[in-house]
Amino acid sequence: MKRLVILGGGESGVGTALLGKAKGFEVFVSDAGSIKQAYKDVLINNGIAWEERQHTAAKVLQADLVMKSPGIPEWAPLVKQLREQQVPIVSEIEFAARFTQATLVGITGSNGKTTTASLTHHILKQELQVGLAGNIGHSFAKQLLLNDKAVYVLEISSFQLDDIEQFKPHIAVLTNITPDHLDRYENQFEKYIASKFRIAENQTSSDYLIYDADDKVITNWLSKHPVKSTLLPFSLTQPVSQGAYLENNNIIITIDNNKIHMPTNNLALEGKHNVKNAMAASTVAHLLRIRKQTIRESLENFHGVEHRLENVLKINRVQYINDSKATNVNATYYALESMEAPTVWIVGGEDKGNNYEELFPFVNEKVKAIICLGVDNEKLLKSFSSMVDVVVETQFMSEAVKIAYKLAAPGDNVLLSPACASFDLFENYEDRGRQFKEAVRNL
Ligand code: ADP
Repeated sequence: MKRLVILGGGESGVGTALLGKAKGFEVFVSDAGSIKQAYKDVLINNGIAWEERQHTAAKVLQADLVMKSPGIPEWAPLVKQLREQQVPIVSEIEFAARFTQATLVGITGSNGKTTTASLTHHILKQELQVGLAGNIGHSFAKQLLLNDKAVYVLEISSFQLDDIEQFKPHIAVLTNITPDHLDRYENQFEKYIASKFRIAENQTSSDYLIYDADDKVITNWLSKHPVKSTLLPFSLTQPVSQGAYLENNNIIITIDNNKIHMPTNNLALEGKHNVKNAMAASTVAHLLRIRKQTIRESLENFHGVEHRLENVLKINRVQYINDSKATNVNATYYALESMEAPTVWIVGGEDKGNNYEELFPFVNEKVKAIICLGVDNEKLLKSFSSMVDVVVETQFMSEAVKIAYKLAAPGDNVLLSPACASFDLFENYEDRGRQFKEAVRNL
């Protein structure tokens, strides 16, 4: 019996453990931290051996195959040891994909993965048996066990791509690439870009790579590192002969000789970035032969994902918007770009080496007040104090929202789009978003 060792007892670890057991592996789960009780119960009920708060090297190093959870960095001592001993290490998607014949749609990028994956799933599910997995909801491995569908839409992080060998989505989507998570890539942007492009490394000409042709990082890389995939670019600014582009408020998608037009006037999601996400998702749907009418209706009735430019409430004609998932500057760039009214902006948190310069034009034009919500707001104060009349600081969400309420006039927006990680004051971005919504409801 082959020994499968799983490092990390979270969603992907436990999912992989269940699939591994079902496929005849002897499974051992090892987590250096503590494993959630609900996951422990699953492991115990399924007779899967596990340990927490330690890695017993002797056991781990005996593995025939290791599944490393995405949170564990390459420099972890045990990982180094495994590499030295040439034990194969794979990610969950690599492992799970070996056990399905389903058509795989893999969606990666620095921003827009969850939105594009959810929108793609929303369109496809109207006509196909389709699952949504990966970084979103239930693990891919667990879903395969529960119910193997014809198509899976997978949201894939760079960490999952770091440990693939043969994984090959039939359709890959690369939404954009901006610097993020560089601490995991030796602070080298090139390494992070290369990791994202691994989504296409096993593709052949019968597979597709859908990507943002307006993203210079992507196009420069492609010009120097050609891929075998059939390319389907999408663009807001230039016509493309294959792929998708925008003309007179219509998305035009061409695949071979087959062309469809889709009006953007009634898109449920606002903002230019969401037109891009809609182009990517509709191109996938068109490739999978979803009817044009279905695609159009689905784009009109998809109301987005929580914490991504989520309209919370309108109070005294002030719109409160929760964009807590904007954990980097680029995501906030698109949030500010999509603001169509004077905006009171709640920003801040744990800085990831942010450079705010690209936001200056929008802040100048649209932001009437800034509320800094972080333990250390120095960089924000330095960047914006001379640009915006009102800049205040707080460390409490309820207070931030009360201040915003006082500063906003009828017709304005109050936007939480932090451009920073949440861990200085909150458990995670979901906690930050929920606290925002609760504070708004309490006004
Ligand atoms: P991810 O899963 O890649 O983190 P999300 O869909 O959760 O992406 O969106 C994260 C943040 O990025 C949100 O604030 C959202 O408004 C913004 N965003 C969504 N799509 C895009 C895009 N195509 N380009 C830039 N920012 C985007």
